[in-house]
Amino acid sequence: STPELYFQPTSVEEIREILDMARQRNKRVKVVGGGHSPSDIACTDDFMIQMGKMNKVLKVDKEKQQVTVEGGIFLSDLNVELNKHGLALANLGAVSEVAAAGVIGTGTHNTGIKHGILPTQVVGLSLLTASGDILECSESINADIFQAARLHLGCLGVVLTVTFQCVPQFHLHEVTFPSTLTEVLNHLDDHLKRSQYFRFLWFPHSENVTVIYQDPTNKPPSSSANWFWDYAVGYYLLEFLLWISTFVPSLVRWINRFFFWLLFSSRVENINVSYKIFNYECRFKQHVQDWAIPIEKTKEALLELKAALENNPKMVAHYPVEVRFARADEIWLSPCFQRDSCYMNIIMYRPYGKNVPRLNYWLTYEGIMKKYGGRPHWAKAHSCTRKDFEKMYPAFSKFCSIRDKLDPTGMFLNTYLEKVFY
Ligand SMILES: Cc1cc2nc3c(=O)[nH]c(=O)nc-3n(C[C@H](O)[C@H](O)[C@H](O)COP(=O)(O)OP(=O)(O)OC[C@H]3O[C@@H](n4cnc5c(N)ncnc54)[C@H](O)[C@@H]3O)c2cc1C
Repeated sequence: STPELYFQPTSVEEIREILDMARQRNKRVKVVGGGHSPSDIACTDDFMIQMGKMNKVLKVDKEKQQVTVEGGIFLSDLNVELNKHGLALANLGAVSEVAAAGVIGTGTHNTGIKHGILPTQVVGLSLLTASGDILECSESINADIFQAARLHLGCLGVVLTVTFQCVPQFHLHEVTFPSTLTEVLNHLDDHLKRSQYFRFLWFPHSENVTVIYQDPTNKPPSSSANWFWDYAVGYYLLEFLLWISTFVPSLVRWINRFFFWLLFSSRVENINVSYKIFNYECRFKQHVQDWAIPIEKTKEALLELKAALENNPKMVAHYPVEVRFARADEIWLSPCFQRDSCYMNIIMYRPYGKNVPRLNYWLTYEGIMKKYGGRPHWAKAHSCTRKDFEKMYPAFSKFCSIRDKLDPTGMFLNTYLEKVFY
């Protein structure tokens, strides 16, 4: 993204001035947090506003266990602040170098069938609209705008503040153990019941699966992390071998099996404060897709993806396919809108920045996800347009009418959002 002008405002007044200037010069504005979205949802050639200097904790309500923050605060800072007050967010994605307004902008999720995506933790927010007005919204004030703005795609205005419902601070006990795809898919309900934050990693071109259970505990921190295995092998050796495989693609099958055997074939346990367990290493550059399908379609969809890889020997898939779960919600553009969901994240690394052909894998996966009623993650790759979203989201037209009302000239649109709305 190469914005013409880049701003880091420190006050609402400064943001208003930037919006005025954009209006006068007929420019669009893109507001960003961490800029961590793998899709081009946060890109622009016009004006970019980075909210990193509006990053304060404004209020901690210990009784209600709620925290109000400025939209630009990184969750990595918020986690530490909350911990000081004996509070925590009930769920987090893999990384915390992302902003409060950014994570809710794209519907960031983790796992746990009793837990919704991150925007479900939001109980209130305030929005500076294109006209320069500030709108407060919650379940009881501007309720319609609230259901739209809890997953706002960055197109409704500048999110100034966010109020999160928190929970008492907690430790998590993580247990990682090997299994097989058949076992996990045949006993999915048991796994979902057994662990509050259950997810699994499938190693394509094999039956291998790593199961990850994370559950609250009173035990003190303990860790089996090891720099040699986690970084020297799990990061640097993997990147080197995947680079070699760009000349001999069939090696990927071998690499997936080898790394499972090397790093994931025994049981490992870790205990720590919740956010240190929720966050994990995502390794080097990569392309990703991550669609949510109705949870009852998990088995059929994964077996179809496995069969497609078996039937197309030339199609290679890097590990892992990460399978996570989320509770249904009522947020208009949430991939989990009104249905418990399974998110299936596929990945193709770019070892040393080199692109690995992925078109066949990408299209095959998208085809399967669409067949099972999938909805793509807003921050990750997909080829959907307005026609698809109209079918996927029963409340799509309600979101569009709120957007038309709050931003009639399309000041907050960019190329990505034009595909969504036109
Ligand atoms: C290494 C890595 C790991 C990840 N892991 C996960 C994961 O586990 N689960 C998951 O679901 N996703 C994951 N993601 C995706 C990531 O969580 C989302 O892309 C998230 O939105 C990034 O937050 P951000 O602050 O960087 O947002 P940005 O990318 O900066 O912006 C995202 C959207 O929010 C808008 N926005 C940001 N701030 C404001 C504001 N103040 N006002 C108005 N609009 C605003 C932007 O315009 C844009 O539309 C991962 C990404 C990376 C790179």
